Amino acid sequence: MVDSSSDLMTKYGSECVCPKCPSFTICAKMRWQSIFCLAGKSPTDCIRVERGCLCPECPVASALGKDKQYYCMYNV
Ligand code: SF4
Ligand code: SF4
Repeated sequence: MVDSSSDLMTKYGSECVCPKCPSFTICAKMRWQSIFCLAGKSPTDCIRVERGCLCPECPVASALGKDKQYYCMYNV
């Protein structure tokens, strides 16, 4: 059976390294936002400045074959 997006977010949410990223903001932290590669970009535009992206070194990206960056800012 294929996991739904919500199942994947539950499964991998704690492994997302977004909260350690230099581009991550207090705004996103206060709203418990992360795992943007599954959830889509920040719905409240909390992250607006590219200060580096840790997605390429994230274990979730490896597990799910996600090979892009800045999921928090763009629906790539
Ligand atoms: S998607 Fe990339 S740039 Fe955005 S917070 Fe996560 S690691 Fe940082
Ligand atoms: S690939 Fe990026 S957005 Fe997705 S879980 Fe990892 S750090 Fe978060």
